[in-house]
Amino acid sequence: MSRQAQRKRALCWIRRDLRLSDHRALAEATKAYNDVAVVFIFDTNILKRLKDENDRRVTFIHQSLVDIDEQLRKKGSTLLVSHGDPCIEIPRISKQLQCEAVYYNRDYEPYAKKRDAAIQAKLKNNSVDFRSFKDQVIFEGKEIVTKAGKPYQVFTPYKNAWLRQLESQDYKEHRPNLKHLMSAREIKPLSRPWSLKKLGFKENTLWLQAGERAARKRLHSFAKHISRYADARNFPAVESGTSGLSVHSRFGTTSIRELVRLAKSSRSNGSQTWLSELIWRDFYQMILDQFPEVTQESFQSKYDQIEWPGSRALFNKWCRGETGYPIVDAAMRHFNATGWMHNRLRMIVASFLVKDLLVNWRWGEAYFARYLLDYDLAANNGGWQWCASTGCDAQPYFRIFNPVSQSKKYDPRGAFIRQHLPELSNFPDRYIHFPAEAPIKVQNDAGCVVGKQYPQPVVVHSVQRQRALKLFKGVR
Ligand SMILES: Cc1cc2nc3c(=O)[nH]c(=O)nc-3n(C[C@H](O)[C@H](O)[C@H](O)COP(=O)(O)OP(=O)(O)OC[C@H]3O[C@@H](n4cnc5c(N)ncnc54)[C@H](O)[C@@H]3O)c2cc1C
Repeated sequence: MSRQAQRKRALCWIRRDLRLSDHRALAEATKAYNDVAVVFIFDTNILKRLKDENDRRVTFIHQSLVDIDEQLRKKGSTLLVSHGDPCIEIPRISKQLQCEAVYYNRDYEPYAKKRDAAIQAKLKNNSVDFRSFKDQVIFEGKEIVTKAGKPYQVFTPYKNAWLRQLESQDYKEHRPNLKHLMSAREIKPLSRPWSLKKLGFKENTLWLQAGERAARKRLHSFAKHISRYADARNFPAVESGTSGLSVHSRFGTTSIRELVRLAKSSRSNGSQTWLSELIWRDFYQMILDQFPEVTQESFQSKYDQIEWPGSRALFNKWCRGETGYPIVDAAMRHFNATGWMHNRLRMIVASFLVKDLLVNWRWGEAYFARYLLDYDLAANNGGWQWCASTGCDAQPYFRIFNPVSQSKKYDPRGAFIRQHLPELSNFPDRYIHFPAEAPIKVQNDAGCVVGKQYPQPVVVHSVQRQRALKLFKGVR
């Protein structure tokens, strides 16, 4: 056996944890092994489901990997990238590099769980260890349960238990030893070309910078505003009212523990409220892990009886931002242009689709899944089911958002609307939230006549509200 083959070698397979700092699997791998290669597989099972060569998520992943590769090269290593089915690629690469183990951080999505189980079985046949770690959440699966040992289904008691159980070691840093990386010379022959073009995708302009260094910058900048988070977080026009970190959390360019460390570094109301949002993230991951059927049926499955009368034509108007309700249209047009939407607006447009247009919430969930840059199965499914009143601890069905009142409350001067619907920019504040009500002279003076330059409202809210209540009440 050559001297090199005797060295202890392992792979660290990165997936939705695209960073080198505070990385649990990499920290553990570099503690136990002298030579660790960091590997990323462009999973063709996932890529082939993406319908659009302009998919922004692929650009984000690609740029984040470039950032990792640059950091690894500074340490004399490089990122090992492949393109194919991980069930074939991971066993193949670990064999070629003569690795004793593959380290990775756990993923709770049904596809990932099935894939990882299949890889584990294959690696076992080759006598290679497949070691998984908790990294993506603070508490996973059954770590937080009720007194009866069951998973929580209501957020507030879950959150209280989460806070009671939290100790500093749950969010301590896991620092990899970057002296124990495999050399670039050994990795290079195995890596495949991985330009976006080679992968069949186009480079997109993103509204935020990708990569862990950019995530850290965003985190530091948000830290200056966190104390006012509780007051600012519901107003989409307020700059830095929220962190804008969800894309980084989704792809793991930041670690959840680092976010919790920031939240715990002060006792301000803003920090406590922000910590609550991070707990929502853990909560929905736990729900997906413990109740994977939510991807197929409503959490409150009785609501699957509802036959939603909303048409494809109405759905398409919602998608394009042509409903005649400015807050909905501004949110959707901004979303279509960027892949981003503020949380308050996600709640407004989702409620509008389900309870005003009476469209099946699954259509909206799928539309978000296709275009959201921070798309996360657990949070998206949870968010849609909350808004549709079909989920665990969801909004009660009889509490229906009025899109005009929401607009007046959270975008009082219409700043967000004016920015994204320039045709309405000259309307006075009084009418900006529902221009169909403006006298024709006001419309003419604003240079925008409803029904010509801006759509007529597609439905009447008060009428649709009653129809929605009837649909829900009809469920036994
Ligand atoms: C219909 C609907 C769909 C959604 N789809 C997604 C999705 O696909 N991916 C996603 O990350 N979030 C989703 N959310 C939750 C939320 O809207 C976003 O996490 C938030 O807008 C991200 O902005 P931010 O990073 O500035 O959040 P901040 O307000 O700064 O919050 C900090 C972090 O907490 C987490 N968080 C905040 N709110 C929630 C929440 N309600 N549920 C779970 N995690 C939360 C996010 O990781 C976020 O980055 C959805 C919400 C709704 C109502």
